[in-house]
Amino acid sequence: MKTAAIIDSHCHLDFPDYDQDREQVLENARKLGVRGFIVPGTTARRWPQIVKLCRRHADVFGALGLHPFFLDEHGMADLEKLGSCLENRKIIAVGEIGLDFMRSDLDPERQLCFFKMQLKLAAEQELPVILHCRKAHDTALKLLKRYPPKGGIAHAFNGSLQQAKAYIRLGFCLGFGGMLTYERSTRLRQLARQLPVESMVLETDAPGMSGTAHRGQRNSPEYLPEVLQTLAELKNLPVEDLARQTTTNVRCSLALPDAESGTGQNGQIDPPGGFQITP
Ligand SMILES: [Zn+2]
Repeated sequence: MKTAAIIDSHCHLDFPDYDQDREQVLENARKLGVRGFIVPGTTARRWPQIVKLCRRHADVFGALGLHPFFLDEHGMADLEKLGSCLENRKIIAVGEIGLDFMRSDLDPERQLCFFKMQLKLAAEQELPVILHCRKAHDTALKLLKRYPPKGGIAHAFNGSLQQAKAYIRLGFCLGFGGMLTYERSTRLRQLARQLPVESMVLETDAPGMSGTAHRGQRNSPEYLPEVLQTLAELKNLPVEDLARQTTTNVRCSLALPDAESGTGQNGQIDPPGGFQITP
């Protein structure tokens, strides 16, 4: 299935799941129209792998952060290190960070502590954030108002329409992935129909969250066109238009450099050889 250029706004390509065929996965996805890959951070131990991937591939961008799932692995020293690691030009956001109150094994106070500290850091460095949030949207929104970042993406969004609108008011886009491809995801599909297309981005969250056609298998950015197709059907929009709009949305929400002018949102000039996300 060949489609217009799209960006996977959330794929964990640094994970060992891709150690055997990472280059092939990237190459296959590119052939299917995936022209940009955003790789969010999870633990400090894995950050170097993300930086390496960004250096190696012009179309891979990274976020660095401490994911709430791995709470026990994080320490205060990681937060100090994060500040200096963010100065890399291909690290375009702080993430993925947030709150997961669905997981009862994760201490909420400790989650809040790491989330707040990372939000402060994002605000200081004027970076957007990639947010992971489950059963904690109202708390997260309150904190985002207190420490407002330069927008970002609420990834795998699964809150209410009202919460979605609150994120949009804070300059966020909402990420939709494989869950949308399941017919039984009625609430999520309804939400996707209701939201303005200017606030939606596509993602896979690979290697997890596989869509209906790949249930139980490793997820991959190669399957992003299937999310695009589903969303186009739900919103009754031409696939090409939706591809173009969601690509623009990722570029704007994460301030990715504009491929044509060679300048980023803040007007910085790209280094020679630039970045290669082409429309
Ligand atoms: Zn993720």
